[in-house]
Amino acid sequence: MSDIPAFNPPTRILMGPGPSGANPRVLRAMTAPLLGHLDPEFLKIMDECRSMLRRVMRTENQVTLATPGTGTSGMEAAVMNLVRPGDRVVSGVCGYFGERITQMAERAGGTVTKVTAPWGSPVDPAAIESAVKANGPVQLVTIVHAETSTGVQQPIEAIAKIAHDAGALLVVDCVTSLGGVPVEPDKWGADAVYSGTQKCLSAPPGVSPITLSAAAWDRVKSRETPSNTWYLDLSLLEAYWDERRAYHHTAPISMIYALHEAVALVLEEGLEQRWARHERNGRALQNGLEAMGLVLHADAGFRLPVLTTVRIPEGVADAEVRGALLKRHSIEIGGGLGDLRAKVWRIGLMGESSTEGNVLLFLSSLGKILREHGFKADLRAGLAAATARLEQP
Ligand SMILES: *Cc1c(COP(=O)(O)O)cnc(C)c1O
Repeated sequence: MSDIPAFNPPTRILMGPGPSGANPRVLRAMTAPLLGHLDPEFLKIMDECRSMLRRVMRTENQVTLATPGTGTSGMEAAVMNLVRPGDRVVSGVCGYFGERITQMAERAGGTVTKVTAPWGSPVDPAAIESAVKANGPVQLVTIVHAETSTGVQQPIEAIAKIAHDAGALLVVDCVTSLGGVPVEPDKWGADAVYSGTQKCLSAPPGVSPITLSAAAWDRVKSRETPSNTWYLDLSLLEAYWDERRAYHHTAPISMIYALHEAVALVLEEGLEQRWARHERNGRALQNGLEAMGLVLHADAGFRLPVLTTVRIPEGVADAEVRGALLKRHSIEIGGGLGDLRAKVWRIGLMGESSTEGNVLLFLSSLGKILREHGFKADLRAGLAAATARLEQP
């Protein structure tokens, strides 16, 4: 007899910056029998993943695969493979994840010029343009589409044009945007786009979808020195994902099942419908928070529907409110990162977690707790504002 207690985690409502709640079909897919990583049946599933990922990522790119590891593995694959020692890189930074890309580009041997914006605003394309001109020739521009640390959605097209006019490639972090807001590498002209599974795709964390344009692939293939990562070397990964089927690593079999089911679910719902659902629920939450008397942190016009930052009212204790949400309502939200620590809460409405029920439950739970902490949240106005938005398409 074992005296180890049974493993029985509680069921949470995951409304933080990720992971989001996983769809039960995804979790069930993960319990399917294992196949070998070179079994023809498994290779078929990989091929289907590739073609479904191309549809979800709205791209015709041949090189579209999933790196083993969470979203950061996609980031590391993009940066380490595309930055060559001595390359000049312009990195747009308006939050924590932009900083992370910058650090990686430096580790890859790039000479990086940071173009910053306050945490809560997008990066100004004109500032990127000046930096690209002042530091030319620049080989790579990097930017975060959905900055999960601040709740800002960055417009990409103008930056893509600036990069291409200067002969540079563009890397876009779409970890939090894919499956929640439009991600359009081909339309934007983005050369490398990567994502993760535990945000708007609603699978457990574990693999990172990534796609490379023909120009980006040429850059990877024409490197004079191999990239500084063996595990995430895209040339080696592509040799496993394409018809060569050259063993590189043992694919995380169950995670590939999960990805397969998750992207199938996205296509079943329909991308446009899914974007509309995230938009509706996100705006309902934001309208509700404002009507309750709270202040949204991200600049109006650039607010992500899938991740909302709201300022913590003066005198209200950050950790106590989050603790009460978790303990009493089983709702997880995120605290602030870096400069925004103890200043904002981060509320995710991603994938399966983006529901009308969660919006209303969260507003009423938060409103009640805030009132107990001395902030007179107008609960009635908050719910009315949210409901009004939920009734629209
Ligand atoms: C979550 C996130 C990452 C990192 O992904 P992990 O899965 O935590 O490795 C990178 N970029 C952005 C914008 C993210 O939100």
